[in-house]
Amino acid sequence: MLPADRHQQILNRLQEHGIVHIHELSQTFSVSEMTIHRDLDQLETEGHLRKVRGGAVPIPAPALASPVETCFMCHTAPRSQTQMTLHLSNGVVQRACCPHCGLHGLMMLGDQVVSAFASDFLRGNAINAQAATYVVEPAVAICCTPTVLAFQNKSDAERFQKGFGGQVLDIARTLQFLNQAAHLKSHRKKEM
Ligand SMILES: [Zn+2]
Ligand SMILES: [Zn+2]
Repeated sequence: MLPADRHQQILNRLQEHGIVHIHELSQTFSVSEMTIHRDLDQLETEGHLRKVRGGAVPIPAPALASPVETCFMCHTAPRSQTQMTLHLSNGVVQRACCPHCGLHGLMMLGDQVVSAFASDFLRGNAINAQAATYVVEPAVAICCTPTVLAFQNKSDAERFQKGFGGQVLDIARTLQFLNQAAHLKSHRKKEM
């Protein structure tokens, strides 16, 4: 077996098992442990894995993951006009595609959320989600349904509502609305 083939198979195993052991690899490929050591050294230099005592592990996932961060609720790519960020007590920042997902996330994570920011739908700047005004279920579907959009100024929200319909709500009533919508959906599913 050519070293290049062995390298590929080592990487395949690594992906499958999450860790490879030098001892096992040397038996599998009928080569010395010294050879496997050199294989792993080379693969590490090329950035394919990280050597640990007695074996190797994959490079941590974020380095391999796509550079575009996706919504932590529905995995679509967030847009600057609608995205929300939730800052958690453990330092993690969760990004959501739109207030629909962001507010569902807020309900789900509860006390873990230290602060939440929405994007003003007109300007795209970050605004405090607690103080924002929301337009719920306008006639245009934007991102997730029911559509929820955030506005910094209530007057902007009302102007948007004049053009596109929907309800103008504060965060508490928007959360209530989403809760009911989710409840209705699960209820309908049960009846079907
Ligand atoms: Zn989403
Ligand atoms: Zn969305």
